[in-house]
Amino acid sequence: MGEFDGLRAAVTGGASGIGLATARLLARSGAAVAVLDLQPREVEDPLLGVRCDVTDDGEVRAAIDVVRERLGGLDVLVNNAGIGAQGDVSANDDAEWHRVLDVNVVGIARVTRAALPLLRESASAAIVNTCSIAGIAGLPQRALYSASKGAVHALTLAMAADHVHDGIRVNCVAPGTVDTPWVERLLDAAADPAAEREALEARQPTGRLVSADEVAHAIAHLAGPASGGTTGTVLTVDGGMFGLRLRGG
Ligand code: NAD
Repeated sequence: MGEFDGLRAAVTGGASGIGLATARLLARSGAAVAVLDLQPREVEDPLLGVRCDVTDDGEVRAAIDVVRERLGGLDVLVNNAGIGAQGDVSANDDAEWHRVLDVNVVGIARVTRAALPLLRESASAAIVNTCSIAGIAGLPQRALYSASKGAVHALTLAMAADHVHDGIRVNCVAPGTVDTPWVERLLDAAADPAAEREALEARQPTGRLVSADEVAHAIAHLAGPASGGTTGTVLTVDGGMFGLRLRGG
């Protein structure tokens, strides 16, 4: 018996990295899982790939319609789709600010808005948003990204308060540096990717990057019925980057 037997889940940005690891873990734990992504064809059975750009309201509503038709409802929504941005507050123009906030913040509102009627019908409804340690700590040279993830954190708390009486729990995870294609792309852009990876690992209190599976387990924990008493929280999965830094670790 899996913890998610009989439950239906949708994971945005589920075709890669943290989202894919989460979709696979939920499916292994018994859930029927839809992956809502720009590139859904890359996901394998039993995952249901559904084309969905979270910045396009029509595509979002159509994707949730597919979830209703194919899965018969929705119990778990993982708002994980996200994109990055580098530099200080002056590094990005208005268009780039709007583009990143549209995916990382408004995307969560769009998908949740479309999914709420289904979640309200569920006896075990949970939303987990993917925040970032950047949204809690405010990372240097990540001004726009930190602002977007700070908004995800605040939005999670507001959503938790708004929907507690609908029986919908809302929490978020705040990963540190996770070994995903995203980080791989950043490393590949460096002059010496191997040296850059070594330096990145050396900056982690644990001496290694967090794995996508480790974040997936945190998301599944917050999404599962066993966490029925938990809403409005952030769970850091950062190898101690945030908490230990405050203690001089
Ligand atoms: P990734 O690039 O491996 O995967 C992101 C997925 O999101 C891709 O499949 C992509 O197609 C999808 N996506 C992007 N824009 C989309 C859109 N408009 N609509 C639908 N799907 C879209 O990245 P990842 O590292 O797995 O990151 C996933 C989430 O975790 C993001 O929200 C990111 O901000 C967050 N995060 C990542 C790290 C890290 O170190 N990798 C750390 C903290 C937080």
